[in-house]
Amino acid sequence: MKYFEFENGDKMPAIGLGTWKSAKGEVYRVVREAINVGYRHFDCALLYGNEEEIGEAFSDAFKAGDVKREDIFVTSKLWNNAHQTELILPNIQKSIDNLKVAYLDLYLIHWPIALIPTVTFPKEGSEMFSLKDVTLVETWRGMIELKKLGLAKHIGVSNFSVKKIQNLIDETGVTPEVDQVEMHPHLQQKKLKEFCDVHGIIMTAYAPLGSVDRPENRKTVGEPLLFENETIIQLAESKGISIGSLLLAWAVNRGTSVIPKTVRKERLIENLAAADIELSAEEMEKISKIDLNYRYIKGDFWCLDGSDYTLQNLWDE
Ligand code: NDP
Repeated sequence: MKYFEFENGDKMPAIGLGTWKSAKGEVYRVVREAINVGYRHFDCALLYGNEEEIGEAFSDAFKAGDVKREDIFVTSKLWNNAHQTELILPNIQKSIDNLKVAYLDLYLIHWPIALIPTVTFPKEGSEMFSLKDVTLVETWRGMIELKKLGLAKHIGVSNFSVKKIQNLIDETGVTPEVDQVEMHPHLQQKKLKEFCDVHGIIMTAYAPLGSVDRPENRKTVGEPLLFENETIIQLAESKGISIGSLLLAWAVNRGTSVIPKTVRKERLIENLAAADIELSAEEMEKISKIDLNYRYIKGDFWCLDGSDYTLQNLWDE
């Protein structure tokens, strides 16, 4: 398995298992199978509501001797309603307890969005804090403390733009180690990737297959689908691989880690194997040309009337 390396030599396996939408009652089996077929990287979040069951799978896998704690890379994320200094430690502790591990390998600020503590998903702007009142810098300082305490070996951000990361660096002198963002051939994030490469920030691609199982109310009629793109179809055919494999191989060949979600054993195996598929410079170039700057996860659900949030100030583009 290919790895991306942190400054201290710790390694993040290039392909990890996404767990958003993997249902309770099913995710235990998926994680046990994933470990058995060779997954060593798991992308979790408190928000996904399934961490406890994932923790049971980890703990049973450790007991059964399938894998050791130190051999798996576990990520979780600080939810938007816990951005205030005093809420950050309790939030990571919940994930650590749920996942039944003593520490996380990576903890991310899930979104550059701050909600009032009693709300999980806002319905109106009054349930959101302005980032002028609860700043991302305050939240980032809390994350830095978690790393000092050893609760997270590495810390980073998710859904952050160049501008927002640069501000964290300028204000704290501490560079996020990872930025996890939506990334696939229709949203290649070229400028953000250049910036991350220069600053030694590992990028992780979420929704690498287009997140086709996301909630229906987050889909747009007639949107461009990765699995229907002619260039992608032809390249996959010419290489004799599936479209899913091509999409994941593209991410790894580009130097980003990638966290496809599946609940099916055959796809677990197929997706993991994509890390070893080489794409030529010519094949990469063809894919480079089909960028549409198209987001499947638009973030418009944060831009509520009465809040400070707009698509422009969310993505800074
Ligand atoms: P993905 O792009 O991973 O797509 C998942 C969908 O693709 C599911 O319907 C799955 O179906 C299907 N699928 C999986 N493998 C294949 C394959 N080889 N061929 C065809 N279809 C396939 O979407 P996600 O939104 O789940 O993104 C991946 C992960 O990224 C999430 O699970 C989560 O961990 C993380 N994430 C992080 C976000 C953030 O804000 N930081 C936001 C969104 C996601 P099936 O399960 O039936 O196989």
